[in-house]
Amino acid sequence: MIKLGAKAGNIIAALGPCIKPCCFEVKEDFVAEFEQNAPELLRFIKKENGAYRADISGMNKAILLDMGLLENNIFVCEECTCHSGEKYFSHRRQGNSRGTMMSVIGIKK
Ligand SMILES: [Zn+2]
Repeated sequence: MIKLGAKAGNIIAALGPCIKPCCFEVKEDFVAEFEQNAPELLRFIKKENGAYRADISGMNKAILLDMGLLENNIFVCEECTCHSGEKYFSHRRQGNSRGTMMSVIGIKK
């Protein structure tokens, strides 16, 4: 959008439902990828009781803020797809027998 001329301060973003740190336990190889490629996002990976948990909503929001979006223009769905069994599909909860979710945003003519 910015490449097409949009000003970051005018962009409104919505981060849809996803797995949250409560359920998103990751392994050391996941942490290592961020250490090598995006160390500024390591603050969204916490180690608790010997396990790493990642906050991917927090990571995506930080990326949007770094691009110049305004905090008040970024909406984050706080629901955890892994916890909300009847509402969302979750690969972590259901494995390969899950469905797929999709969000679409368009411009009304
Ligand atoms: Zn959860």
